[in-house]
Amino acid sequence: MELYELTAHQLSERLGTGEVSSREIVTSCYDRIEAVEGKVQAFVSQTRQLAEQQAAEIDQKRAAGEELGALAGVPIAVKDLLCTKGLPTTCCSQILENFHPPYDATVIERCRQAGMPIVGKTNMDEFAMGSSTENSAFQVTRNPWDLETIPGGSSGGSAAAVAACEAPLALGSDTGGSIRQPAALCGIVGMKPTYGRVSRYGLIAYASSLDQIGPFARDVTDCAMLLNTIAGPDDRDATCADVPVPDYVACLQQGVEGLKVGIIQELVHGEGIHPGVKGRVLEAVDTLQELGCECEETSLPNIDYSMPVYYIIAPAECSSNLARYDGVRYGHRTTKPVSDIYDLFAKTRAEGFGEEVRLRIMLGTYALSAGYYDAYYLKALKVRTLIKSDFDAAWEKYDVLLCPTSPTVAWKFGEFDQLALKLADICTIPVNIAGVAGLSIPCGFDDGMPVGLQLIGKPFSEDILLRAAYAYEQATEWHKQRPEL
Ligand code: GLN
Repeated sequence: MELYELTAHQLSERLGTGEVSSREIVTSCYDRIEAVEGKVQAFVSQTRQLAEQQAAEIDQKRAAGEELGALAGVPIAVKDLLCTKGLPTTCCSQILENFHPPYDATVIERCRQAGMPIVGKTNMDEFAMGSSTENSAFQVTRNPWDLETIPGGSSGGSAAAVAACEAPLALGSDTGGSIRQPAALCGIVGMKPTYGRVSRYGLIAYASSLDQIGPFARDVTDCAMLLNTIAGPDDRDATCADVPVPDYVACLQQGVEGLKVGIIQELVHGEGIHPGVKGRVLEAVDTLQELGCECEETSLPNIDYSMPVYYIIAPAECSSNLARYDGVRYGHRTTKPVSDIYDLFAKTRAEGFGEEVRLRIMLGTYALSAGYYDAYYLKALKVRTLIKSDFDAAWEKYDVLLCPTSPTVAWKFGEFDQLALKLADICTIPVNIAGVAGLSIPCGFDDGMPVGLQLIGKPFSEDILLRAAYAYEQATEWHKQRPEL
């Protein structure tokens, strides 16, 4: 087996025994990138020099007998909306094309401190708006399982990089499914932690009340290791909760005997859930039951309103967050003649933002405008509370809720229209609306493409989700399947 094929925990073990060096691992990842990146196109920038330098430093420290963390020397890929000091951070938008942030996001700082070499920045839908990574201003990323299909989005580059073994781990962000959905469609593990579990400092905002950073990995142990590295309070993000971080790896083995699992009726039997997907998810329920989980169906009656609520709240917040890209403070500025400052703003923004981003800014501005604020935005906030109370009621009975991650497997480029693209998030958006935790794990194939099982947990119950996912993973072989490239 090549080093690039190993999981992070396997690499960590070999690094620990001195069998391999971080330099060798980084070299192996770049060999793989060289071999497959032409097909997959997961990266918008590669940072080989930096990664090699970081790896050499870690190897030196290890040789000197320094105490190192579990992921020291294990490389990581980073979605291009996380600020990386001195490295391009573009959000895959023309408007930030030449932006090099003067600081690191907290999660990047933590990965660097943990000694993780950064291999590169990954492709994404512009400003994280999309479900297929086709909204990137720069390039198209392909699903490693079938190069004619989309990898999911918006963190499609991160998911594809991990699935294609270009990096053992990656970071993404999830506002309505952007970690879980591409993880599902690329056949890997992805987690959106509870809102407030991971600092958002240095995450370029899309919709601040929904955004959350989380891990991509090829198995549950790796996902737990990366969550250990990035989770926990941060003085620089007031929404990051001061809740103790358990050792997510240590709790994996605790088993699932007696765990109460609620199967969300609306998202298993509902309209639009592809029969092949439903089939795999129900098989996963059987497996969980054999493992000792108590599974039964349950209803979240307001969940059907998640989509309309999301498409008011997310654009409203995006219209405010993206107001800062005006051609004055940073980023692209028009070179066309302008009549006044407003003309400069308008021309810059028209040139810098893609169609989907402009559409959402307009939607949000409209929903927040004086005449419509109460009718749309305030109403959406109230319905958001109703959806959240459905989840609160569920936690009285269940430890974990379960449904598909995506209603379909990955589709061909151009196959879905705008509405279908948006409806593809039907299973993931409610989790962000309620601010709870969600994880996607491979649970089989339909038409040769990976299917993802979504496990949802109450706030700060990532340990339970990981434990359930681990038990399932140990009982199945899906996570061992790799695409042929
Ligand atoms: N696909 C959803 C959207 O287009 C969610 C994106 C995300 O989670 N960043 O907004």
